Amino acid sequence: MRNKIVAGNWKMNKDREETEVLLAELAAKLPDTTAEVMVAPTFVNLQEAVRLLENSTIQVIAQNMHYADNGAFTGEISAPMLNSIGIDTVILGHSERRAYFGETDELLAKKVAAALEKNMRVIFCFGEELEDRKSGKHFELVESQLRNALFNLEADDWNRIVLAYEPVWAIGTGETASPEQAQEMHAFIRKVITDKYNGELAEKISILYGGSVKPGNAKEIFSKPDVDGGLIGGASLVADDFMAIVEAI
Ligand code: PGA
Repeated sequence: MRNKIVAGNWKMNKDREETEVLLAELAAKLPDTTAEVMVAPTFVNLQEAVRLLENSTIQVIAQNMHYADNGAFTGEISAPMLNSIGIDTVILGHSERRAYFGETDELLAKKVAAALEKNMRVIFCFGEELEDRKSGKHFELVESQLRNALFNLEADDWNRIVLAYEPVWAIGTGETASPEQAQEMHAFIRKVITDKYNGELAEKISILYGGSVKPGNAKEIFSKPDVDGGLIGGASLVADDFMAIVEAI
């Protein structure tokens, strides 16, 4: 049985007070679930979030990190810093990081290695743009993103990798991949991992879908056999919506 995960990526939303309000609501409304539930507030509110969720099973995770432990990298945050406030999971490779901050597969390979070295868990995001899908290159593109950033890892390292397939054209657009499109890609991803490593490993990896998941479509997407949960943007900012998505898993 694979871990089911619902993770909320808050992106650059919610100031300190708003963060406190939303976290209190989430903690109060969390349904009984065997799934892992995670939230990723902004860096400035992480420490407060860890404190506020001390008695909750909701995990606090980070949206990004640098590959170096410390040094002259103005504006950046490292794995040891996250570790030191009790954060052990980080989202890497989000399409907004790739598109607006120039993060490449090569840089992401370094970030993944740095996170694993510090015993962190990584939610690794990848996915094709609309043009890739239109021209039929989406499988090839996804395979190359995985190969370039993750296929230098040892099989054991994959115990701490969670994948998040997020077609760029479905992020924040209201446009969702159909459950069939998600399933088709997730099954393809397992095949690629099987070919590179082995089937047992491929079967163990949780693969989340992300891109306009909402209370209204979550159940159908999560019902697909290779979809193990979701990375949720917009809908994670509203407690009732996020918890409805947690219910759906
Ligand atoms: P969205 O974002 O749910 O708002 O489409 C998903 C994501 O960026 O992870």
